[in-house]
Amino acid sequence: MSSPFENLSNMLNQEEQRGYDNKTVMGGLERLADTWAPKAVTEVSTTEERLLIEGFAGQVRRYPSMGAEGRARLIEEMLAKIKDRPTPPPAKQESRVTSPDQSATAPTKSEVRQEHQPGAPVATARKPVPPATVRPTQPPKPSSDISGLESSVTRMSGIKGAYAQRLSRLGVETVGDLLILYPRRYLDYRALKTINQLEYGEEVTILGTVWECQMRDTHRGLKVINCTLSDQTATIQATWFNQPWLVNRLKPGAHVVISGRVDQYLGRLVFQSPEWELVDKKQIHTGRLVPVYPLTEGISQKWLRHVISEAVDYWSPRLPDHLPTGRRERLGLLPLDEATRQIHFPDSPQSMESARRRLAFDELLFIQLGVLRQRRRWRSVPGRPVQVDQALLRSFISSLPFALTKAQHKVLNEIVEDLGHPVPMNRLLQGDVGSGKTIVALAAMLVAAADGGQCAIMAPTEILAEQHYRSIGGMLDGFQDAHPGTHFPVHLLTGSVPASQRDAIYSEIASGRAKLVIGTHALIQETVDFHDLRLVIIDEQHRFGVQQRTALRGKGYNPHVLVMSATPIPRSLALTLYGDLDLSILDEMPPGRQEISTRLMSPPERERAYSFIRSQIEQGRQAFIICPLVEESEKIEAKSAVEEHGRLAKEIFPDLNLGLVHGRMKGEEKDAVMTRFRDGELHILVSTAVVEVGIDVPNATIMLVEGANRFGLAQLHQFRGRVGRGEHQSYCLLLADATTPEAETRLRVISETNDGFKLAEEDLRLRGPGEFFGTRQSGLPDIRLARLSDINLLEAARAEAKDLFDEDPDLNQPEHRLLAQKTGKFWRRPVDLS
Ligand code: ADP
Ligand code: MG
Repeated sequence: MSSPFENLSNMLNQEEQRGYDNKTVMGGLERLADTWAPKAVTEVSTTEERLLIEGFAGQVRRYPSMGAEGRARLIEEMLAKIKDRPTPPPAKQESRVTSPDQSATAPTKSEVRQEHQPGAPVATARKPVPPATVRPTQPPKPSSDISGLESSVTRMSGIKGAYAQRLSRLGVETVGDLLILYPRRYLDYRALKTINQLEYGEEVTILGTVWECQMRDTHRGLKVINCTLSDQTATIQATWFNQPWLVNRLKPGAHVVISGRVDQYLGRLVFQSPEWELVDKKQIHTGRLVPVYPLTEGISQKWLRHVISEAVDYWSPRLPDHLPTGRRERLGLLPLDEATRQIHFPDSPQSMESARRRLAFDELLFIQLGVLRQRRRWRSVPGRPVQVDQALLRSFISSLPFALTKAQHKVLNEIVEDLGHPVPMNRLLQGDVGSGKTIVALAAMLVAAADGGQCAIMAPTEILAEQHYRSIGGMLDGFQDAHPGTHFPVHLLTGSVPASQRDAIYSEIASGRAKLVIGTHALIQETVDFHDLRLVIIDEQHRFGVQQRTALRGKGYNPHVLVMSATPIPRSLALTLYGDLDLSILDEMPPGRQEISTRLMSPPERERAYSFIRSQIEQGRQAFIICPLVEESEKIEAKSAVEEHGRLAKEIFPDLNLGLVHGRMKGEEKDAVMTRFRDGELHILVSTAVVEVGIDVPNATIMLVEGANRFGLAQLHQFRGRVGRGEHQSYCLLLADATTPEAETRLRVISETNDGFKLAEEDLRLRGPGEFFGTRQSGLPDIRLARLSDINLLEAARAEAKDLFDEDPDLNQPEHRLLAQKTGKFWRRPVDLS
């Protein structure tokens, strides 16, 4: 028994012996609320104990006004509660902690004092005790059997068909998935206050007794539940809507914990729909750091929290750790069971961070192990080297209307070097929008084609493919005229190439005569058969699924592969995520690029945006307007774009020429509109987001993005990259519709920097890796907790993976078996990062 409760029970016992005359304590037992309670609160370690103390404080205040019988009953009740109170966590938890920032969880004062408790029965401590009673709370021994985690969530009590279906929308199919459905954030409900201390706007927890709880119907058919709570210092009202069952749960006299933001109604402080829990239950919704999970329709925060708490309670003590203990300790990481518990129901912000660190490390380690395995696999099959004609390369470069940047030279050298090796190239070329990736790709293609190989470049949209087709054709024209021997016609293969022409292209490709092929997904149709595909280039690689990239690669025999990305990510992360690829970075823009001025605007400023567009057009410039993102379907998206275009053309810019492109238009239609815009016939191009505005129009100086808050930073940056391509100062106007503080922060970031790397980092930090990479479509494994900014952790995971890989490349040793299993599970789908 820890000492504040010991003291209290001594006093209560005396009071009982004195016949409840209220003379045991000077000034009356009620004084304990102001003397004993505040001190006691500081001496206990658990929320339950704190709540108990607060409860007692409230009760003793009533003591003087009670009759003898009431006093007797109260004291009896309090003594019983002291006896039955939840025991503080067993010491085992403290000794488990390994990371230095966990030192806060050293034995609490009360536990230390316990050892010196004068009245403690010293003798029993020396008695040999049967093992079972030494540590009664010892968890079940972890075994390597984690098969229960694979069973369906429906095996858990209370999860039936409909709920299971809803959970699957959150990516939860199995019990194990529940454990890794991590909170998005936490509410800090640790601050326990009395009602008379409450202040408007603060997030608090109070402990109170239900005075009364009533429900009424409003004339709008709403059910309003009003509950009056008191804690002896004051009363406060809490209100909920449409939860009629609350009336039966919050019965008068019930002790409840309420957590939430203190609101105001008609000049009085109130709680609106706060979290609540009955006091005697284990607290998961109140009085602590409370997890907030991602939700879906039909699943409430409270329900999900409960379900996850059950899963964590049952499973965390049974989780075997896949990290060998020696390695884990050397890295200063929490054990898996502890981390799992703390990530969901943290004892403190520090323990939450330690848990996150451990689990993020795992994600990075799994990635890295998978990536190393992949790389080894790729490099074990030989490819065919390209005979590089350096003279040809040089004369191509000098035929260009501009000089390559230093970065372009360097990257091109890296690529050409790879092409000459018998090991197939697997290279990622990263460069911000406009950094000049296409020309580098083209030079590589030319080299491979000159050696007789076929080259294919795959772009995610028809418009991009068409643009490549045009610009590559243009870049080659002058050169090929001067070098007739290198005349390689460029072929375009997209879904909208008419069937009549398609067969001809297929046969050119099959015969090997078509050396330079540009296309979309149409390239990976079964009907496409390359004669000798030697170089595969994938543009905007994150827009493709794994299968698509693998399919194109499979059109040749171990071809060289270059994947390109305009989503710059920091080198150390790239090395982890794409560690199976070699990395080339274009970290320099061609000279003369403008800084684009970016402005964040709110809906009332829309008119101003329009008049700004008009003034630019009067100066001879052109503008893009991106329509808001409509989620449902391309069809609906197209419809809303048609409407927006109609509105702008009729009401706002009736005297100007407006064009429209959207995803439901045929290739030629889009192309016609784009061409008119490029040629200056259209002042404004209205476009949906599904259509990448991948065209190069140096005269366009304004990019207006509607509903900017719904786009990712990387995507906004892409839009912005469509202007500022000529000599004129360019502008990006971001119009947000309804904004949240989160969206506003994001948009502020983009208006403050033009640096793609920084934006990528912010995007990842603010929206999480899933949204940033679009992992579902890109085939990247699911990273949930790792952060881009965790450079140290990234490097630790890389080093550890490499060490493990060197020691036991197939993870065959017994102590690595679980790790192998988990890594396999993490890379559930066949993954190919190219
Ligand atoms: P991205 O990396 O976004 O694919 P592009 O390859 O489309 O960029 O290049 C953007 C524009 O910059 C194109 O018009 C291209 O011709 C031009 N460009 C590329 N390299 C240079 C250079 N070294 N100097 C000047 N302009 C260049
Ligand atoms: Mg490009």
